[in-house]
Amino acid sequence: MSTDHYPESHVFYRKLTRTYPRVVRGEGCYLYDGQGRRYLDGSGGAYVVNIGHGVSEIADALACQAATLAYVSGTVFTHDAVEELAAEVARLCPGDLDFVFPLGSGSEAVEAGLKMARQYWLEAGRPAKRKVLAFGPSYHGNTLLAMSASSREPYRTAFHDWLVPVIRVPAFYSYHCRCRGKEPLCPRCTGDAVEQIILSEGPETIAALIGEPVGGSSTGASVPPPDYWRRIRAICDRHEILLVADEVLTGAGRTGTWSGLEPFGIVPDLMILGKGLAGGYVPLSAVVASRRLVSVLAAGSGTVLHAQTFSHHATLCAAGVATLEYIRQHRLIERCAAMGQVLQDRLQVLRSSPVVGDVRGRGLLAGIEFVADQTTRQPFPASARFADSFAANALELGLVVWPNANQLEDGTGDLAMIAPPFIITEEQIDQMVDLLGLAAERTLQQVTARR
Ligand code: PLP
Repeated sequence: MSTDHYPESHVFYRKLTRTYPRVVRGEGCYLYDGQGRRYLDGSGGAYVVNIGHGVSEIADALACQAATLAYVSGTVFTHDAVEELAAEVARLCPGDLDFVFPLGSGSEAVEAGLKMARQYWLEAGRPAKRKVLAFGPSYHGNTLLAMSASSREPYRTAFHDWLVPVIRVPAFYSYHCRCRGKEPLCPRCTGDAVEQIILSEGPETIAALIGEPVGGSSTGASVPPPDYWRRIRAICDRHEILLVADEVLTGAGRTGTWSGLEPFGIVPDLMILGKGLAGGYVPLSAVVASRRLVSVLAAGSGTVLHAQTFSHHATLCAAGVATLEYIRQHRLIERCAAMGQVLQDRLQVLRSSPVVGDVRGRGLLAGIEFVADQTTRQPFPASARFADSFAANALELGLVVWPNANQLEDGTGDLAMIAPPFIITEEQIDQMVDLLGLAAERTLQQVTARR
């Protein structure tokens, strides 16, 4: 492999055969590179920049905390920043989700949450409950347990021998369901298929079910019907299975409510937060656990079996506190809901493009699904690399989107994900939709020319 793309750099880049624009500044919904080019951040990076770039209040809070107390071990001390973050997150979360365990990345928090679920059953005297159920397609992160729970083959293939077995249940993805979302009793679309699999596996062996309340990258912002999660919650209750809501992407307001689950009116046993929790100013994630779960651990071993040097980190927690305060003061979740309606509405115009099969989502999270044939919903062949080309074209036009490919069982599938900062304006939404239309046109021309 040639490294000619970056002869003067020692960075071990994530993609080794492309050149990266060098960004020097972010402000509001925009990024600026060293050449003076401006990019509209249509995906908040990787669904992270919820409050916008360059917010000085967060920078000030970070600096102040770092100067006062940057770090102590979470095993020895507590401090104001973690106490304040935990109190605010617990206030925002429903039911008895009262205890907050801060970490850095979403993958770490997924790992920790699943381990806590296993530890709960061990300490509750039910050691047989050890299996994890996860949806397919889904994405829960890239460390080994989180990747085991994810059903994204391109990430898994090289590491298959290292992954732990996780039982797969079909995710809500009506666009690609056999019923096309039209049969109200379809077992996949109602969630009933989950119970069939639980019964065949033996409920007494299952510790937890992890799922994304609104689909992320893997199902392109598919939104289940209103009673879907209520049914799943009832199934979990019937079979004594802990429900883990992976809100790494959908939480912290992204879908127009604090959590993606909120409109479904149920409370999970564990909620995982990440990405936008500190708006991208620092990496911050958290496991939010129910009082019931924590009581069992407290009465049992009294220790969480997930020790990490940087959990409960003071500077990271302070950034989280400042971000949540900024969101509250500026009513940004309400703004996300209102602008989300504008976004979802305006994006519909893209359906007139012959390559757009579906546009869907909630709040400021949207998925555009590309297909070779709108009638049959046949995807492009994986070799066409449609989503990647689309994102590259969008970037050239000055728009950042998040591409996602190969999510379907046969390794095909192309999505562009949209998740702008909550401060986006109607005018910027219109600009974004125009650029998306142009990028689709260009990509279609290129794909057709290559055939
Ligand atoms: N869970 C979901 C739903 C995600 O979308 C992601 C990342 O995209 C993760 C977990 C993993 O988070 P991280 O990349 O911060 O490890």
